[in-house]
This record gives sequence, structure tokens and C-alpha cells, in this order.
Amino acid sequence: MNREFYSRLIFELSRKGRRGYKHPDNHLEDVKLDNNILRQSPLELPEVDEPTVVRHYNNMSNNNFGVDTGFYPLGSCTMKYNPKINEEISAHPSFENLHPDTPVKAVQGALKAYHTLQTYLAEVGGMSEFTLNPYAGAHGELTGLMVIRAYHFSRGDLKRTKVIVPDSAHGTNPASAAVAGLSIVEVKSRPDGTVDVEDLKPLLDDSVAAMMMTNPNTLGIFEKNIPEIAELVHASGALLYYDGANLNPMLGVARPGDMGFDVMHINLHKTFSTPHGGGGPGSGPVGVRKGLEQFLPNPRVVKLDDGTYGVINSDTALGSISSHLGNFAVQLRALSYILSLGKENIKHVGPLATLNANYVKDKLKDAYLLPIEGVCKHEFVFDGLIDKSTGVTTLNVAKRLLDYGYHAPTIYFPLLFHESLMIEPTETESLDTLDDFISVMHKIAEEAKENPEMVKSAPHNCPISHPDDTEAALHPIVNYTELTANKEQ
Ligand SMILES: *Cc1c(COP(=O)(O)O)cnc(C)c1O
Repeated sequence: MNREFYSRLIFELSRKGRRGYKHPDNHLEDVKLDNNILRQSPLELPEVDEPTVVRHYNNMSNNNFGVDTGFYPLGSCTMKYNPKINEEISAHPSFENLHPDTPVKAVQGALKAYHTLQTYLAEVGGMSEFTLNPYAGAHGELTGLMVIRAYHFSRGDLKRTKVIVPDSAHGTNPASAAVAGLSIVEVKSRPDGTVDVEDLKPLLDDSVAAMMMTNPNTLGIFEKNIPEIAELVHASGALLYYDGANLNPMLGVARPGDMGFDVMHINLHKTFSTPHGGGGPGSGPVGVRKGLEQFLPNPRVVKLDDGTYGVINSDTALGSISSHLGNFAVQLRALSYILSLGKENIKHVGPLATLNANYVKDKLKDAYLLPIEGVCKHEFVFDGLIDKSTGVTTLNVAKRLLDYGYHAPTIYFPLLFHESLMIEPTETESLDTLDDFISVMHKIAEEAKENPEMVKSAPHNCPISHPDDTEAALHPIVNYTELTANKEQ
């Protein structure tokens, strides 16, 4: 059978009069509706038989790639395995069927879960208090920067309009600063990949609101100069922001609060395990050190003196950044993940993620160019193949990996190298999986020498091989009518 047959749009499989269901007789009298509320034309629904529907959707899902189908070494994204118990807990009817406007007294259990996670995150981050309201990492960054702005405003300090961001930062950092109405100043990295303190010093003055840092940074390298940087930033009156999207390598090892950070966010969907391939769902809780709690957004969940939980709104808050209390289902998955590991086991997450990354890096550095030597944390970056004479690029390697059933690593990010290939194995992969991936990467390096044209034209057995990314980004076709119109041209 041609799998592509069932992979066509369900509308293309439609044949007039086909049925996949039959309504039971209901013995009720027909109700006569007013003509003005009746449809004037028939609803355009695909008409298909049951086997076609079942095969169509199963084939669609087989074309998909996820952590549940294979190894997914996408750097900076922490595509770890998501234990199924998290799904069971978050889909439990007593959580799933809650209405966000249910009176506080009737949802004490849910608020307890919310508050417990808030408290655990504060402990993990070394912060005083967390809000779970933001919907994603970037949303957390925006919230955190708004907290920082509210702090400066509360002191009558209105001239702080700049945010310092390292050149290795994730693209969301400068974007969030811009959305918060702040301007961006870039600080350079040294050849070893860490922030250049000498370049930073002259940038710090009374116009700086905050400095944003990722640690370990997007190269997977630990910023050893954090105490000095924190001191310099604080001496200038600015606050230090921690991008904790990838807190994975830090779990059980170090806490941003102890390093001198004032405000941080965590991506629950990465570090605390929620399936997020394809961009969602997410949750980006924001934590603050002591003295900044009052600026956190409304509403906040608090434990009251009588031991019950309440939802409060305060005047000092920066306002509200989400409807209700954020993405509750993701919060529940994170809580389930933390509780099922427990305090002792969660300490192994960071060291194992770091061990796996260093293992893969050291095994592959004979074929792939490692621009920064030394021990990395949870991820690392190659600058393409060592042998550049074949003309095989990082994009070609990434596409060839698809032929072998692996998801591609992150490519062409960070922007510090021309041929960035960023690999993050995570702690949930076995030695055998890592060894197989390593052997495939070596095989591709060999293929690049022996048959470069074959690697350049990969993938050879995927439904789609070389889509025009630019055209797709500039003129996305997102509905069926447009697609058919396009085909007829
Ligand atoms: C993923 C990521 C973000 C953004 O998180 P989203 O949930 O995708 O908005 C920010 N910073 C770093 C370092 C990241 O890896």
C-alpha cells in the first residue's frame, strides 16, 4: 500500500455520500427552527468511511516524530522522556474538570498542588517565591523583566531602560526585553564561550535595569565568573536575571539564588517534563529573591494562617499576565515529575544529563569540530564536520540523521559559529541509545567523505525532503482552499 495515499488531506479522500457512522433512531419529534438561524449552505465536511478515517489519522501520526518514537537530541530544548504517570495525574478528572472560577473553598486540593509546586520551585531555584502564571519561557522572561521594572519604578528610579544580554543568549532574551519596552545592549563572549567581564564593565551604569544570563550558557558552558558579575551588576544598581529554561544540569547541583541572581524563570515543559515538541504546551514560572515578592503578577496563591489556601490580588503587583493561574495541566505534570523522583533522585538529573552530554561529545570530537574544549554541562556545540573539503554542511548532516530515524540536533544556533550543531542528549537516554547515535554520526561523517552528494541530497526516505523553508516562512499556506488553488496553478 502506498502510505502517501492515506496521508493526503482528509478532504481529498472525501467521496460524496460515503459514511463512517450512522445516527441511532431517536424517536423524537423534529423541532422546527427559525429560518434565520439555519445554515444557508451545507457544512463542508469530508465524507469518508471509517477505515479511511482510521488509516488517515494513524498514518499522519506515523509521519510525526516525538520523544516516544526515537532519540531527540535537540539542543537547548531538553527533549527528555516524559513519564506517562505525569499524563495520568494531569488528566485526572478531579483536576481536568475544574472550572477556573470555582470558589476557592471548593478547590483547596488543586490550590495545595499549585502551592506545593511553587514552594518546591523556590527551593530548587534558591528563590523566595514563585509565580506559576506565565505560559512559556519567553513569557516568563517578559514577566521577570516587568518585575524588575516595577522594582526600579517603586524606588523612583525611572532612568533604567537598558538590558544587557550576552551575544550567546537565546533569541527570546533580547526579544523579551524589547517587548518589555527596554533596549538591548550586547556583551561579548570570550573565546572560551563565557561572558567577557572586561567587556561588561564599561556597559554598567545607572541606565541599566538588568543583565540577563543563562548558566550554563547556550554553549553548555558554566559561567565561572558569576560571583564577580553579580557583584558588578548589583554595584551598578541593576538586577541580575537568570534564564533557567534549561535548569536540567543544575538540578540538585547548584541554585541560581545562591549564585546571586535576583529574578529567574524555569521552563517546566523542558526541565520538569511535559511533551513540548511542536511548540507547546508550556509553563514558565518566575521566581524572585526576598524583597521582590510584592511585584509578582496577580493572582497569587498563598497559604493562610489557618492552613487553608487562598488566591490574592495585590496593588503592588505588576498587574496580571495570564488568565487565572496559568497552565495548570503543565504545572501538575511538573509536580508529578518532582514527586515521583523525590528529593534524593532529583539530585541525579543534573549529573546524569552532564555525563551523557560529555560522553557523546568526547566520542564524536574525532569527526566533528569542537570549537570549545573542556567539560560541558548538559549540551555542547560542534562547528560542523572537521573535514570541510567535502562541502557537506551541518544542514546536510541533520537531514541525513532523519534517514537513520533520529531527530536532528539544533542547527545554526548559537550564532557564534558558522556551522553550529548543538546536541543535548538529556539524562533519560540509555548508554545503548547514545552508542547507536554516536555510531550513526560517525557513519554520516564517513559517508560525507565517500559519497558527499548522497549526504547533500538526504533525506532519502522521509515523506518530504527539501521544502523551501524561506518560502514556507514568508508565505505559509495554512488552509485547504489556498492549497488547492496553489495546486491548480
Ligand atoms: C527554550 C528556551 C527559552 C524560551 O522558552 P519558550 O518556552 O520556548 O518560550 C529561553 N531561553 C532558553 C535558554 C531556552 O532554551
